[in-house]
Amino acid sequence: MRKQIAAANWKMNKRLDEGQTLLTAILAGVNSVQPNQEVVFAVPFPYLVPLQSLVADKTNISLSAQNCHHKTSGAYTGEVSVDMLDSININYCIVGHSERREYFAESNAVLAEKVNLCLSKNITPIFCCGELLNIREAETQNQFVAVQLEESLFHLDETAIQKVVIAYEPIWAIGTGKTASSAQAQEMHAHLRAVLATKYGTVVANNISILYGGSVKGANAVELFSQPDVDGGLVGGASLLADEFIQIIHALKG
Ligand code: PEP
Repeated sequence: MRKQIAAANWKMNKRLDEGQTLLTAILAGVNSVQPNQEVVFAVPFPYLVPLQSLVADKTNISLSAQNCHHKTSGAYTGEVSVDMLDSININYCIVGHSERREYFAESNAVLAEKVNLCLSKNITPIFCCGELLNIREAETQNQFVAVQLEESLFHLDETAIQKVVIAYEPIWAIGTGKTASSAQAQEMHAHLRAVLATKYGTVVANNISILYGGSVKGANAVELFSQPDVDGGLVGGASLLADEFIQIIHALKG
C-alpha cells in the first residue's frame, strides 16, 4: 500500500514554547504509527532543531520545512537552502504551497528547481498543487493542475517521481472552512493519478502518495481519507489543535 501521510503545516504560528507544548500533546495521543503511515510536522524554520529531540525516538514521525530556496547557496539574504536543511537532518520540505505561490510569486519553473534540489539531498518534497475558485467555477481545474504537475515534476525520471509526495489543495478550501466533498477530492486525486500514469505508467502512478489539503478536520478526515486515491492530508488550521490533529492521524488508512 502507498504511504498514508498526515502532514501538519503550522505556517507562521506559535511561539517555540507553545509549539513544544503542542507537539508533546500530539505525540502523547499517538501511541504508534503503522509501518505504512507517516506523520510529518512542517514547523517554522527556527523550531526545526529545538523540536528534533521530541521526535528523535519516534518511528515514522518527522519534522519538515515549509519552504526552501531554489538556489543552492549565495547572496539571498534571509533565505534557507536545501543544503542547510540537509545539514540538520530534515527529510521533508513543502514545495509550492499556494500561499508561497500567491504571496511570493513562485512559478512552476522555480518550483521545479526546488524539487530537484530537495531530491538531490534525499529530502522528500511535498509538492502542492490546486486551483483557485474561478478555475473551479469555469470547470477547468483538471487541465490547470495537470499543467502544474507537468511544469514542475514531469522532467523527473521514473525513480525520482516516486520520491515526491503530492498534495492537492484546492485554494478555495484552504483556511476557509469550505472542504471539498470527499467525492470532489476523490475525483481530482483519480485525475492526478491518471495524469501521472499517462506519463510514467500505472505501476509508478500507484506508488505516489497524493494528500488532500483544505479545511481537513477531525470530523471530516475519516471520510476524506477513506477515498481510494486520497492518501492522507496536509493540514493547516486543525494541525494547531492537539485533539483535532490526533483524530486526523487516527483517520489514516491502516
Ligand atoms: C494548508 O495550509 O495547507 C491548509 C490545507 O490549511 P487549512 O487546513 O487550514 O485549510
